[in-house]
Amino acid sequence: MASDHYDKAITIKSPEEIELMFQANQIVAGVLSLLESKILEGISTFELDCLAEEYCYEHDAQPAFKGYKGFPASLCASVNEEVVHGIPSKKKILRPGDIISLDFGTRYKGFYGDAAITVAIGPIDTRIAQLIEVTKTALDKGIEQAKVGNRISDVSRAIQQYTEEHGFSVVRQFVGHGIGSNLHEPPEIPNYVQRQASPRILEGMVLAIEPMVNFGVAKVNVMKDQWTVVTADRKPSAHFEHSVAITSHGPRILSKQISLC
Ligand code: MG
Repeated sequence: MASDHYDKAITIKSPEEIELMFQANQIVAGVLSLLESKILEGISTFELDCLAEEYCYEHDAQPAFKGYKGFPASLCASVNEEVVHGIPSKKKILRPGDIISLDFGTRYKGFYGDAAITVAIGPIDTRIAQLIEVTKTALDKGIEQAKVGNRISDVSRAIQQYTEEHGFSVVRQFVGHGIGSNLHEPPEIPNYVQRQASPRILEGMVLAIEPMVNFGVAKVNVMKDQWTVVTADRKPSAHFEHSVAITSHGPRILSKQISLC
């Protein structure tokens, strides 16, 4: 999502703050895992939004996207050619062969969590399945570079290289971001390498890394609802996101679900 916080400095979180962010992100992970289990043909994106919101409130968190700059729902549900910021709707019914990107954010005890996954409904085209796998692995490649001593551009490069090697393109108009007591904080984390120097990665930063990868051209458009971002060529797009804390031992994925049993 667009941000108005990028003019502020990059914040360094204390271990206690990172613990709260871990809890905020575990609720996000719980929502995404619940939605993944409920996705079947015939369900509407509105129903997914209700399930997400209910889980969030049951876990004493607030849905972070609801009302954010006027966004009308808790979940971003983006189907097929929709890249990000799809608005859930009773009219949008999932069909076999569709793919859907689910992006969810929470606010918990003053801190935010943010993550996204893309899943398929029923059997899908092989190359579209590859789009999903490449986007997921591109996120892993980016996270591997999120370590002390590297720059943000090392994360960007890893994502871009892996994606383009596989014949897909990265979205330029939307980027990852820092996260903390604001949903969007500096630094911006592009999924491609920019000309200008980018910040050094320091211990205590928390980064929401989120490759948005298109099947065809990189260009995207915003629809008339002023939210839904679609690919310019209307070919499918995938999106994965994790919130990652930078520790002295390397990246710690806060939004990866930790099993309690
Ligand atoms: Mg995000």
